[in-house]
Amino acid sequence: MSDSQPDPDAQSQPTGQLRTPIVAVLGHVDHGKTTLLDTIRGSAVTEGEAGAITQHIGSTAVPLSVISDIAGKLVDPDDFDLPGLLFIDTPGHHSFSTLRSRGGALADIAILVVDVNDGFQPQTLEALDILKRTQTPFVVAANKADTVPGWNPGDTEPIQQAIERQNDRVESDLNEKLYEIIGKLSDNGFSADMYWRVQNFQNNIGVVPLSAMTGEGIPDLLTVLMGLSQRFLKAEMSIDVGGPGAGTVLEVTEERGFGTTLDAIIYDGTIREDDQIVVGGVNEPIVTEVRALLKPKPLSEIRTEKEFETVEEIAAADGVKIAAPDLDDAMAGAPIRVVRDQDLDDVIADVRKELAEIEVQTEEEGVTVKADTLGSLEAISGTLEDEEIPIMHAEVGDVAPRDVRMAATADDPKHQAILAFGVDILDDARRLAEQEDVDIFEDDVIYQLVEDYDEHVTAIETAQQ
Ligand code: GDP
Repeated sequence: MSDSQPDPDAQSQPTGQLRTPIVAVLGHVDHGKTTLLDTIRGSAVTEGEAGAITQHIGSTAVPLSVISDIAGKLVDPDDFDLPGLLFIDTPGHHSFSTLRSRGGALADIAILVVDVNDGFQPQTLEALDILKRTQTPFVVAANKADTVPGWNPGDTEPIQQAIERQNDRVESDLNEKLYEIIGKLSDNGFSADMYWRVQNFQNNIGVVPLSAMTGEGIPDLLTVLMGLSQRFLKAEMSIDVGGPGAGTVLEVTEERGFGTTLDAIIYDGTIREDDQIVVGGVNEPIVTEVRALLKPKPLSEIRTEKEFETVEEIAAADGVKIAAPDLDDAMAGAPIRVVRDQDLDDVIADVRKELAEIEVQTEEEGVTVKADTLGSLEAISGTLEDEEIPIMHAEVGDVAPRDVRMAATADDPKHQAILAFGVDILDDARRLAEQEDVDIFEDDVIYQLVEDYDEHVTAIETAQQ
């Protein structure tokens, strides 16, 4: 597939190796993001090689061989030299925009899921804005095609041919809905077409009709993703595998026998057992040493107890669970750096700098915000700023009694409020909030959270009149 064959005798070739592209799934709530990821993971597992579904490390690697098994003759492994695709398991644009790598978004490529019946919705548009801003290549999964009247599940004729023939199975119903999606994309400044008519996926968005539920169309989706990556991401996928690892924390979790661990994606270099690492923490960068690198065990080897196997090293891009001492203050969304050959202080300064880029402007008077990751904190703060809602205090973590006490100090009753995004509210905090008359708003959709708060403000203002 590559235009120029590498010269085997060349001495000056960089030692770069191609890494796996990182894929994110975006789209409006209930349009089928989770189902799509589950089905892809499920097919990968039935095809035998990928890790078990039950073990979570926050991402799923689907190797090229498995993609080619799923996609059948659509993907010939000889045509590709990228190792496969790495899916971030948490869908949604907040995880997309909050998970970063040094250069920008952690994901290299995205799937925008649109329910064919529901069409474009607020979060679809938000996702489009983010993809546009970050210039992330993407494909549209026109999902729930199975719900369109005339659909005949299990029909072996590829969706593409059925649509082109406009046969009984899909009639023109599905066709019409797909053209609606194509029209909406074009209204938003993207040129788009049915994926089989798209030549250049970088300038044209391919629309893939599918059913995340039945799995029909998923081979086509994987094929398009693989082709798109191979054609347009190859240059960016070149990494120095021997270099010190760089990664992003997806989630801070408790693992029996290992204490606090990090689910992470390593997107550059290599991380090894016993490596010294620097991780972004709530107050200060954490300096620690890798005790173990854990991967889900292949399905065939799982018995009951030991769900993970340890590996000595992980090369980018791959997901891993990192066990190390002192990780309690680590934050989802924070950078991870391996210290190898560099000066520790330089690496710490680097991590600090990266964290400082994620800034939240706070005022003396305003609401309190708690969020699950630094990036989501930043995203909400951006939205609140646009809405001219001041923030007094903003932090990553669950809502604790001290947050309530802090919120209660606001002068204006409408600021005696906590906006909690994707975090838990501790029982003590809830009780205290009732006593102190502090209102807690919780949601994992930013616009919904802000809308709820807006309604509350309107209610207070009406009551005051
Ligand atoms: P998310 O909020 O975008 O992650 O959406 P989910 O994956 O949770 O799906 C929302 C609902 O739509 C669930 O009830 C799914 O079973 C259903 N759903 C998802 N994909 C399909 C599909 O392809 N066909 C049908 N009929 N239902 C689907």
